[in-house]
Amino acid sequence: MKLLLHICCGPCALMPLAVLREEGHALTGYFDNPNIQPLAEYMRRREGAIQAAEHAGIPLVFPERQQEYDAKAWCREALAAAYSEDRGEEKDTNESGGRCAFCWTSRLRRSAAKAKALGLSGFTSSLLYSRHQNHEGIRKAGERAGEEYGVRFVYRDFRPLWQQGIERSKALNIYRQQYCGCLFSEEERYTRAFRALENP
Ligand code: SF4
Repeated sequence: MKLLLHICCGPCALMPLAVLREEGHALTGYFDNPNIQPLAEYMRRREGAIQAAEHAGIPLVFPERQQEYDAKAWCREALAAAYSEDRGEEKDTNESGGRCAFCWTSRLRRSAAKAKALGLSGFTSSLLYSRHQNHEGIRKAGERAGEEYGVRFVYRDFRPLWQQGIERSKALNIYRQQYCGCLFSEEERYTRAFRALENP
């Protein structure tokens, strides 16, 4: 199948790329992650995605330049989602409220639209590799985005390959991030550390 792989970062993409190539799909990578902040971090992860795509020997595409990165717009929409009364069935189980659901739903919708625009039959995402995300919520959001744009969402559970992906990214010297992506997640990792200090 001609398949778009939404790539959230290089390390997360390595095992999905390996599995999907092994299955015989003709892959196009797509780096679309306006949630990553600040811009310097975004550029490091973008570079990591380029490395992963080059390693796999596949083309990598991006959103149109003027739509690629707008941190202010992303924060505005993410906060609106987090404080919305109507967060839908993808309400997050963690402290972020509806922010994360907005984050992966919007990226998956943009990926479905890109797959459609490129004339591909389906799409999937390296988000399905993460052990830290709401896997089931991502699956449902992908399926809904696929229905909306008339392209098939190809579901796979890449999580069992977690350790293999870590080792491969280290061997390839691809940048490995320390937080999920948005400034809120960057702050939360320190908040958790402070709480642990206060309540040992
Ligand atoms: S914590 Fe991660 S998934 Fe949640 S909003 Fe931030 S970048 Fe997106």
